[in-house]
Amino acid sequence: MKLAQTKDIRTLNRLAVLDYIRQHQDVSRAEVSEQLKLNKATVSTVVKEWIDLHLLQETELGSSTGGRKPIMLQQIADAGYCIAIDLGVTSMRVITTDLCNEVRQSHTIPLIGNQFAENYKHLYDYLDKTVQSMSPSPYGLVGIGVSVRGVVDREGVIRNIPNLRWRNIDIKTLLQDRYHVPVTVNNDGNLMALAEQKHHPEYRELAVISIADVISTGLITNGELIQGYLGFANVLGHHTINFDETEQCSCGKHGCWEQYCSNQAVIRQVNRYLEHPISRIEEFIALVRIQDEHALKVLQQFIKYLAVGLGNIIFILNSQTIVISSVIVSALPYLIPEVLRQIVLPITQTQDIFISELGDDSAILSASDQCVSGFFIQMANQ
Ligand SMILES: [Zn+2]
Repeated sequence: MKLAQTKDIRTLNRLAVLDYIRQHQDVSRAEVSEQLKLNKATVSTVVKEWIDLHLLQETELGSSTGGRKPIMLQQIADAGYCIAIDLGVTSMRVITTDLCNEVRQSHTIPLIGNQFAENYKHLYDYLDKTVQSMSPSPYGLVGIGVSVRGVVDREGVIRNIPNLRWRNIDIKTLLQDRYHVPVTVNNDGNLMALAEQKHHPEYRELAVISIADVISTGLITNGELIQGYLGFANVLGHHTINFDETEQCSCGKHGCWEQYCSNQAVIRQVNRYLEHPISRIEEFIALVRIQDEHALKVLQQFIKYLAVGLGNIIFILNSQTIVISSVIVSALPYLIPEVLRQIVLPITQTQDIFISELGDDSAILSASDQCVSGFFIQMANQ
């Protein structure tokens, strides 16, 4: 949780106690007091406040050497729910999570045509039904988090989704006006970077590169997300790596990184040689595994451009580590050493580069996590 967003010591204590119990579950007041270096009376007061708010409960799960079992504390997961939406370029995935960020429901809505209005109608039809069918709980829907594979400004307005040609869409206000809960909208790369940072708190300087239909990146420096003046400092999938490219990228430029290293780009390139075109990246990986000469040629180009792009990122950011999420790289892990060999300068050889352990859900779960954290900050400030 962002403790810096809070007002006073009381609020900080409330959040610290709740955060500790949320992370560890089934802990005693004594443990919270000892671990957070807070006196027992303060912990008891704060715990009572959270219990009165129906967000913590007492259990008797603790071990004891004799006599009465100690009273333990745990979060009440189903005191409220959050909806997170992954606005992709071919579909919208919607999940409902509880306050422990566990997924309770998941649904995918295919995008139809390229008009936002029509697709938004399909989205809110589904959301209306989801909200209406939520189990009764003290807080109901506490917020909505949206992950977008495109440019989002600091106000949460979608400025551009190049692949869909959607521009200047204020989905945050649309959802807030309809559901009357806080809505956060962020770029998927930023959300993935926040998720990886939580997963690897030891890294203060981190770049996350997600290679899928598009390339998304998220950058953390000194433990904070780099967003830039208008909020799109991380659109590295569209940094130019080939001035001689004649084909235009979805963003309007020529020779963007995404034109060589996204899954769609790899499929497009190998299909130029194949008698029977493929449509899924898994088919490309299967061709590599049987040593198909065309697939191997395209793979070499993928490695070359991946190395160029990563080399540029390393020079711009000097990240402590780079986390890559990619079906191709995960399926063929020997690619990482190959890529590293092509990032030739000694200064760049000190970087840690590894494959993400969080998988494809990291952005949408991070959107939900932001939403849940925002709810607790709001409650702690009351
Ligand atoms: Zn581009």
